[in-house]
This record gives sequence, structure tokens and C-alpha cells, in this order.
Amino acid sequence: MVKITVDMDKCQHYGQCCFEAEDVFALDESGKLVYSKEADESRRADVESAADVCPMQAITVE
Ligand code: SF4
Repeated sequence: MVKITVDMDKCQHYGQCCFEAEDVFALDESGKLVYSKEADESRRADVESAADVCPMQAITVE
């Protein structure tokens, strides 16, 4: 399993991560980031891409 943590003190809810792994990251109706804390190993590459594009470097992938 891929473990995902977003530092919500850093996250500015821009949503770039959502384009890389839309099954893991999403903006809710109020524009706030919501995300899955675990994803299948097969999703690792896209989750790592999401971490790479985050302008705040708020996403940690383990
Ligand atoms: S890309 Fe980074 S700052 Fe933007 S919503 Fe995702 S985690 Fe938050």
C-alpha cells in the first residue's frame, strides 16, 4: 500500500495534485482538498507525480 500524507498547514488547495491522481486527491464543493490516506501500490507513480507537482511540497508518499 502507498501511504499518503498532506501537510494541511502547507496546502493552499490549488488542486494540481488532483490532475495527477484524481482517484486519490480531489477538491470538495467548498474548494478544500480531500484525499485518500492509502492507495493501491499500482497507483504509486501517479501519487508520486502529484507530490512532484505540488507547489507547496505538502505531499509525503511512503
Ligand atoms: S497540489 Fe499541493 S497545495 Fe495544491 S491542493 Fe494538492 S496538496 Fe494542496
